Amino acid sequence: MLLGSIEAGGTKFVCAVGNENYQIKDQITIPTTSPAETLQKTAAYFKKFAVEAIGIASFGPIEVRQTASNYGFITDTPKAGWQNTDFVGYLKKQVDVPMFFTTDVNGSAYGEYVMSLLSNENINSLVYYTIGTGVGGGAIIDGKLVGSLGHPEMGHVLLKRHPADLEFAGVCPFHQDCLEGLVSGPTFEARLNKAGKDVPLTDPVWDIMSYYVAQAALQVTLILRPDKIIFGGGVTSEAFLKKVRRDFAKMLNDYVHVPALDQYITLPEIQNNGSATVGDFALAQRLLRE
Ligand code: ZN
Repeated sequence: MLLGSIEAGGTKFVCAVGNENYQIKDQITIPTTSPAETLQKTAAYFKKFAVEAIGIASFGPIEVRQTASNYGFITDTPKAGWQNTDFVGYLKKQVDVPMFFTTDVNGSAYGEYVMSLLSNENINSLVYYTIGTGVGGGAIIDGKLVGSLGHPEMGHVLLKRHPADLEFAGVCPFHQDCLEGLVSGPTFEARLNKAGKDVPLTDPVWDIMSYYVAQAALQVTLILRPDKIIFGGGVTSEAFLKKVRRDFAKMLNDYVHVPALDQYITLPEIQNNGSATVGDFALAQRLLRE
């Protein structure tokens, strides 16, 4: 069986074809240019393979409610030219197979969930955050993606400010100092005038960052009580998560039980940003079974 995966990001589309064991058989990267050009190249790629279904994990915001008139659209995204793009509708005209359409973080969350089942990790739920150009989060509970009015927007929760960071306005165009506004990749430029990759872990800004990310982990712990919280994306690293676990432990103050923190707050299990691809294959396969 051949399944398709589209990981649609703001800078590139990663398209892949794989089998029912989530093994990648072929993969290409298409730069994200105009919607017409990008989607045309994407469709042309999948026409070469006899895929039975495609899972799509897209940047957003997107419309995921099947009853909505604009189901399958990228909606009011800040990405230039992509507002109100009929993503699924366009592709379906070119490649008429079942498609599962969800957010990039939901795709990654599902990939990590499927992987945990395969490794008998005994998990029913997890939350996946990505911290990169933006911040997003997806949750799986009992195998189901959470959200009915739309997909979650966990990157935009409001937080208590770090006492040494009160002057920083934040970079979110909607809320200024929400989680994304305080910890996304562009905050390094905004705070320090340099790229995050050039800021060593010894810089105090990382303690400010971990203070906020730990609050996100605390809140989602208290609201959903998931089995596991995963942090992916370009800003995260094991060394950074050590700080997050330290701050999280202080904030939680043993109020509720959680697993050992190095197993509870983790990097993705799947390497090389592959979580969403596995998730897409699994969601495509699930669509065929239903
Ligand atoms: Zn925001």
